[in-house]
Amino acid sequence: MDRLEEMIPYLLHWYRYNARVLPWREDPSAYHVWISEIMLQQTRVEAVRSYYQRFLAELPDIRALAECPDDRLMKLWEGLGYYSRCRNLKKAAQLVCEQYGGELPADYKKLRELPGIGDYTAGAVSSIAFGLPEPAVDGNLLRVCARLTGSREDILSPAVKKNLTERLRAVMPERESGALNQALMDLGACICLPNGTPHCEDCPLMHLCVAFSEGTVSEIPVRAAKKERRTEKRTVFLLFREGRVLLHKRPEKGLLAGLYEFPNVSGALTAKAAKEALKELLPMLSLTDGKLKKEEDAVHIFTHIKWEMKAYRGTVSAEDSALSEDYIWVDENAFKAECSVPSAFGKWDVFSKKG
Ligand code: SF4
Repeated sequence: MDRLEEMIPYLLHWYRYNARVLPWREDPSAYHVWISEIMLQQTRVEAVRSYYQRFLAELPDIRALAECPDDRLMKLWEGLGYYSRCRNLKKAAQLVCEQYGGELPADYKKLRELPGIGDYTAGAVSSIAFGLPEPAVDGNLLRVCARLTGSREDILSPAVKKNLTERLRAVMPERESGALNQALMDLGACICLPNGTPHCEDCPLMHLCVAFSEGTVSEIPVRAAKKERRTEKRTVFLLFREGRVLLHKRPEKGLLAGLYEFPNVSGALTAKAAKEALKELLPMLSLTDGKLKKEEDAVHIFTHIKWEMKAYRGTVSAEDSALSEDYIWVDENAFKAECSVPSAFGKWDVFSKKG
């Protein structure tokens, strides 16, 4: 018997007594599983708990999500990052309302066609909410299975992932596919850890595990070297007028699409160069005392890019009519309650000392 098949009864038994208590497991409807899995991408379980509860309290079903105004949705997502996830949630919810009467389809392929739903999420929703025999293969599962089987293949390779998905699909247990996927998620999160030493002594698969028996746990999984992250230097302007700060809406496509940011330009500029750049960017503004004051530097890391940011604060006067509609002045209340400013700009607590 294949080790992947052999592990199943041990994992299911272990899960019965060791499943993590998580809010989205209390009522695992397709909507709940979907929202939680999208939030959990790139985000820790502990961070997701409160977001999940707040999101569901305000948007209890797919129709409410489909009709939620964009700014409100971004606000509910603020702090979770990777905002394309929440834009895709709304797009998918609208399609589900148009095509499936407001209920997610109990069909892996149809789920997979919805925006933002990849193989993993389609597998999780199919199995946990609908009991379909679909695996949910992510990095955790790839790591556990690589160690279990002693595989030294690159777990970042799409071919390796595809092969594992097919092998698992062939052995998914009837009626318990959701439990098996969740057991693997929990084992990967709590026992067969990604960083640090795994807790093999507590693992229900220890007697089957090739990496454990061969003493190669610390060498597996194998990952091919990732591409280097590109560094971009930027200069950020914190501009105030009568207790309001100036925000700029980013373009609808690309990094942080459609979100508000503090106006900024490329390059790490000195105060003198920053003043020139500001004049060029927003010629209708003039610094009331002619000065830009240096603020703390900040660094933000995205998946493929690192931003190194210098920041300057200034007080300005301006004609509203002269600013393009991508710019808005907001007071403290609007800044906190209505505008989604991504965490990349979270370093500067702009209203703690007004300009
Ligand atoms: S025995 Fe250790 S390495 Fe093997 S699956 Fe369990 S925790 Fe992972």
